[in-house]
Amino acid sequence: MSASDLNAPDSIVSDGQEASARKDALPPTERLKISEIFYSLQGEALTSGAPTVFVRLTGCPLRCQYCDTAYAFHGGQWLSFDQILAAVRQHGARYVCVTGGEPLAQKNCASLMVRLCDAGFEVSVETSGAYDISGLDTRIVRVMDLKTPGSGEESRNRWENIAHLRQSDQVKFVICSRDDYLWAKGIVKEYELKHKATVLFSPSFEQQDPTELANWVLKDRLPVRLQLQLHKLLWGDKPGV
Ligand code: SF4
Repeated sequence: MSASDLNAPDSIVSDGQEASARKDALPPTERLKISEIFYSLQGEALTSGAPTVFVRLTGCPLRCQYCDTAYAFHGGQWLSFDQILAAVRQHGARYVCVTGGEPLAQKNCASLMVRLCDAGFEVSVETSGAYDISGLDTRIVRVMDLKTPGSGEESRNRWENIAHLRQSDQVKFVICSRDDYLWAKGIVKEYELKHKATVLFSPSFEQQDPTELANWVLKDRLPVRLQLQLHKLLWGDKPGV
């Protein structure tokens, strides 16, 4: 489902004067710019394969070279929390994944996730690791990237976040090359990540051979999980799946 499928009145709003008028009509502390809301199978992380509603927020200040959601950098629709909740509820799913872009770049995101938790959903957030995760509601599962050198955005890692991880959280490395693998292996050891969260190694799509990465992990006996992007295997690399 794409943004045009959102269950919200007058939801076909793009940039410009109309969008500005709509934004001003929504409560300032209960509005977010949304790229798309759709129902699919979770393609990554520990709930991989589970039917999930995805709430993709517009915008990201990073520019990872492998980014597969650049369409979410701009555009989207301003929606109130009530409209987002209504769009999520219509799918009848247990899991909700708040993603982007970088969802935490919009300051109202944390409050939306509290509302989703209060409504009984199991909520996860996918974040680049560039924003402070310490203040998020403890019911939320944080799936946090640590950006490798191959991403081009290593300098954006907020290393202080590691001290705030919980066992229910997940740390994800997108591996682009052997050099990235060796870097990530060093970080896992240096920060003793296996004691702090589940560690995920994900091969960068069409850049790092998954079998090669699997063999490296096994050979080095790393305490990490290899993950493939299930949604891309099933439906290809496209929006809304
Ligand atoms: S943080 Fe995520 S959304 Fe932003 S550029 Fe990197 S991969 Fe894309």
